[in-house]
Amino acid sequence: MQEYYLCPACAKRIAIKSGRMNIGPKQRYKCKNQQCGIKFSFDKEFQYPNKPTIELIVEVIGQKKRELDKSLLKIKENKAQLKKLNQEFNKEKAHLQNLINKQNELLAKQ
Ligand SMILES: [Zn+2]
Repeated sequence: MQEYYLCPACAKRIAIKSGRMNIGPKQRYKCKNQQCGIKFSFDKEFQYPNKPTIELIVEVIGQKKRELDKSLLKIKENKAQLKKLNQEFNKEKAHLQNLINKQNELLAKQ
């Protein structure tokens, strides 16, 4: 009787045993889902798509978290830059206001 295994890519229990991996004596499986059809092994030393579903999920979540951390860091950097620009602008504005005040004083004296 044909035994079926859970495919780590499409999560359907329709994968069957399909010979051995090229490297080592690991059992290879093939997904019978026509839209998927990947070959995989449940050995951890193999890269995606050979990892079991739970490891894939953990990896995807980890990747998403790293991306989020990176964009948060970028937002923080942008905020700091904006703050600096704002400070420079305010300094420049104060300087210009000072010049205008002095000029007005001079004009008033004439
Ligand atoms: Zn599949």
